[in-house]
Amino acid sequence: MKPIQLSIVIPLLNEAESIQELHEWISSVLIESNFSYEIIFIDDGSTDNSWTIISDLCKKNEFVKGIRFLKNYGKSQALHAGFEAVQGEVVITMDADLQDNPEEIPELYNLIKNEGYHLISGWKKVRYDSFFAKNLPSKLFNAVARKTSGLQLHDFNCGLKAYQKEVVKHIKVTGEMHRYIPVLAKNEGFTKISEKIVQHQARKYGDTKFGSERFINGFLDLINIWFLSKFGKRPMHFFGAWGVVMFSIGFLSAAWIGGSKLYKLYHQEPAILVTNNPWFYIALSAMLMGLLLFIAGFLGELILLNTNTGKNYKIKSTNNIKSHL
Ligand code: UDP
Ligand code: MG
Repeated sequence: MKPIQLSIVIPLLNEAESIQELHEWISSVLIESNFSYEIIFIDDGSTDNSWTIISDLCKKNEFVKGIRFLKNYGKSQALHAGFEAVQGEVVITMDADLQDNPEEIPELYNLIKNEGYHLISGWKKVRYDSFFAKNLPSKLFNAVARKTSGLQLHDFNCGLKAYQKEVVKHIKVTGEMHRYIPVLAKNEGFTKISEKIVQHQARKYGDTKFGSERFINGFLDLINIWFLSKFGKRPMHFFGAWGVVMFSIGFLSAAWIGGSKLYKLYHQEPAILVTNNPWFYIALSAMLMGLLLFIAGFLGELILLNTNTGKNYKIKSTNNIKSHL
């Protein structure tokens, strides 16, 4: 049997109207280009009859696969489950709502397979979403994400993306991190990342499944990912450094206050009590804060030490060893 060239991963929540149509569209494109492929639908806790439709498709075609979640866990978890299951050399993710265009798949495949990119992110240059609901905030998001990650992408959150299989097997998409998969990939060392302008359509059926909280959560995740990528593996460098700075400021201020008090006593000049000097409390607080920051850094390092499975490296290739990939 021909090895699977393409795995199409589709996370979905209550998209019953679109599934059949999307399946036909993808199949027609892939059959025409003579690809061997699998389509993996991940039903993220739908309450409509999405799963029945997926099950029917699976019965009719062995290369259509389905994963059903017990409840709605979110798009990131759905992608994660899909990534665990994929077998194809090139993995494509796309939304189920017919907003992403399957005609893009052959070119995305070409970019990964033949041009050697680790990840190609779609760029919805012309977008069919309402201006204030998404376009403006999304421009801001992308600008901040570009700045913090150093990745020059225009559309981090595009559902349509293509990956080398190795990439999806190594990244852990948790929380709501699906918005920043290119950053996760970069942090794992997959740096050949680029983008391709893709066609975008207006949602044909139903409504968007993300509310306005997407913006706040999105920004919190962005700060989190920036912080994790910078200090996640060496918390002491952040907390410890600030701890030492704070403690030193406090200690030197306290020494100065104490020193000048002793000096005045020695020269029999009038001097106020150390505890009546407001600077004393500031110095004390700075020393305590410094100590706390240092302890936080130390605890962080201890946690890392104990949760570390020893697998902080990635093997590029092996000989005569059965790979788990
Ligand atoms: N989705 C999902 N789980 C969720 C929310 C959304 O699997 O909790 C799916 C959804 O069905 C769609 C894709 O993620 O296939 C993108 O969602 P949506 O179209 O609502 O997002 P938008 O296009 O508005 O950014
Ligand atoms: Mg959509």
